[in-house]
Amino acid sequence: MMPNGYSFIMNADIFAKHSDDFITLKSDHYAVSIDAERLTDIITEPYIKIAIVTNSGQVLSTLNYTNYNLELIHKALKNPNINKITKHLLAISRVPGLYYISAESMSYVFQQSRKNLILFLPFGIIMSLIASGAVIWGLRKRLSPIGELKLAIANKEMVVYYQPILDYKTGRCCGAEALVRWQRPDGSMIKPDFFIPLAEESGLIQPITDQIIESVITNLKEILIANRDLHIAINIAVVDFNSQRIFKKLESMLSGTNIEPQQIWLEITERGFMDFKATRDNLQQIRMQGYTIVMDDFGTGYSSLSYLKELPIDVLKIDKAFVSSVDTDSVTSHVTGHIIDIAKTLNIKIVAEGVETQAQSEYLKAHHVDYAQGWLYAKAMPLEEFIKFCEFNT
Ligand code: C2E
Ligand code: CA
Ligand code: CA
Repeated sequence: MMPNGYSFIMNADIFAKHSDDFITLKSDHYAVSIDAERLTDIITEPYIKIAIVTNSGQVLSTLNYTNYNLELIHKALKNPNINKITKHLLAISRVPGLYYISAESMSYVFQQSRKNLILFLPFGIIMSLIASGAVIWGLRKRLSPIGELKLAIANKEMVVYYQPILDYKTGRCCGAEALVRWQRPDGSMIKPDFFIPLAEESGLIQPITDQIIESVITNLKEILIANRDLHIAINIAVVDFNSQRIFKKLESMLSGTNIEPQQIWLEITERGFMDFKATRDNLQQIRMQGYTIVMDDFGTGYSSLSYLKELPIDVLKIDKAFVSSVDTDSVTSHVTGHIIDIAKTLNIKIVAEGVETQAQSEYLKAHHVDYAQGWLYAKAMPLEEFIKFCEFNT
């Protein structure tokens, strides 16, 4: 009798019986007979043995058990929590009144797992190599500073800020220096000192300069045409200057715009002046195209005042260090005065950069410096702000 009230009758004597293995399930006046083999009539591996056994140890139906294996069932029933018995792995599940016992020989399990290992190991190794390669590639691409910079250039994350330049004669804005900023997708802004040196070393400065030129010409076209006294200064890196490629870019961007080439100031540092003769020829060629040549950061490198005499330079930018010496260091401020005098003698215009105090401004004006740029007047600002600044200050 089962806990749910049904009773089992084994080998019941029924009239449509084909074999002795019929089981009859009986409840009240009703009886259902089924072939016991049907209970385990499932398709499985020949090595997997299945048995259905009553609580009292009566075997109702088996699959793939031999008489010898039947012993397994009895041993399993004595200890239903066991999962290993006479070199077999066991799985025993229980419903009220019945046990389902499946068993598989351990040697077969190991043999199968060895087969699977041989079959899947090379595949697994290849897949894990591909996966780890992809991870390393992704990390390098994402984390190497050059990779980051390449991605930023491709995603056009470089933006141009404009720092106004004042004409001391009129006290008004006469132009700006284009200064690049790297705007990260999270909105943070990276200053050029952190990535320009790497860009110059890796050659990535060329696409950056290209993007700056494109932005500057596109954004300032209208105000440059409307006011011919206005100029925009673009920083040209050493490789840009030496490769000359940048001048073709400028030419193609300017063609048909009606912007005067003199309105484009090209800031070149003396670091690019490796071969004196080649530099001079190069500068002469650029000047013939009408651009204004600016020598940037003057005094910070191996600058020789004789350069000024022999190179075709229109404007000299006195470095911030010399400008701040006016307040702080009387020895260096003598040099500042000397640089200004020589530039005046050679008829080279002067921009003082990094002007921060009124005292510096007064000194520079008293020495007839032509232009000034610095936080005393304005910091580098986004395009829209610069256009407004220009409207009020020209
Ligand atoms: P730089 O060409 O000498 O530019 C002047 C730097 O001085 C700018 O820094 C400007 O913001 C900063 N500055 C201006 N006025 C003042 C001031 O009153 N006080 C102080 N303390 N600083 C002032 P920024 O924008 O960080 O640029 C740093 C450098 O990065 C530039 O020095 C230039 O060498 C390079 N750079 C910037 N933009 C570009 C670019 O588009 N191309 C290339 N090749 N280099 C660039
Ligand atoms: Ca500059
Ligand atoms: Ca400078």
